[in-house]
Amino acid sequence: MVPALSVELPEAYILAKQMNSELKGKEAAKCKLQNCTNYQRLGFVNTYLSDFNRLHTRKIEGASSRGNTIRVKFDGDMNLLLAPEYGGITLYHPQGSIPPKKYTLKLEFTDESALTVSLTGMGLIKALTDPELQDNYLYHRDFSSTASPLDLDFTFKRFSTDLNRKNTNLKTALVGKEAAVVGLGNAAFQDIIYRAALHPKHKTGELNEAELKALYEAVKNVVEDRIKSGGKEQFVDFYGNQGTYVAAMGPNMKDQPCKRCGQGIAKISFGGGQVYLCPACQK
Ligand SMILES: [Zn+2]
Repeated sequence: MVPALSVELPEAYILAKQMNSELKGKEAAKCKLQNCTNYQRLGFVNTYLSDFNRLHTRKIEGASSRGNTIRVKFDGDMNLLLAPEYGGITLYHPQGSIPPKKYTLKLEFTDESALTVSLTGMGLIKALTDPELQDNYLYHRDFSSTASPLDLDFTFKRFSTDLNRKNTNLKTALVGKEAAVVGLGNAAFQDIIYRAALHPKHKTGELNEAELKALYEAVKNVVEDRIKSGGKEQFVDFYGNQGTYVAAMGPNMKDQPCKRCGQGIAKISFGGGQVYLCPACQK
């Protein structure tokens, strides 16, 4: 697994936006898949590769994302669902360029352009009808009624109400299947609580109004900054451009001085994982 290439909410948003403007109206000519037996066994690629033939001659109506999941919608009620969560590169290849020889999925269009998805870690590539989409776990998880930091109605009121209803520790409240928001991973979590100057030990119910507000602003700012920066450093977008977002907190920060107060960054074990934090200013 190469977690560095993981695609989370900000990166999925960037890809979906680029795919939407580049691919809309294109007609699928041929899907090719390679080296996906393992993904098929785990349910991350269709059991029958012939399912992908259902995309042939279909036109793309648009692409959108929610959480870590990208939905490319075709006419005839077909979809290509992509979630290279734990590692993957999705690239556009204009007519006349030479797509890579290795990929997990190559989708060729009738205008001789193509897209490739190369999974490097666990991730999902599925051709699904609209009804099949409703039965898909990742689609359900991300295209759900759980708030997304990018929703117009992601207000402080909604966030604080959802969080108070949880009364779990901050990690459980922000990351994973019980979370009050979709699309945040461990890296984003460490960045968020650092910006909010909060220690992960807190339960959501213990936070006062000012702390909740700081947490809400941090969630929005981390996601927005990552999108504005073209994704995190290791991410490569649909056109091969590398992201520039550098996390304020993370594994590369151990023992380095905190940018806010100068104290050495610490690594602690918490909630079955490691958390990097500033022991002085995260209270
Ligand atoms: Zn500090």
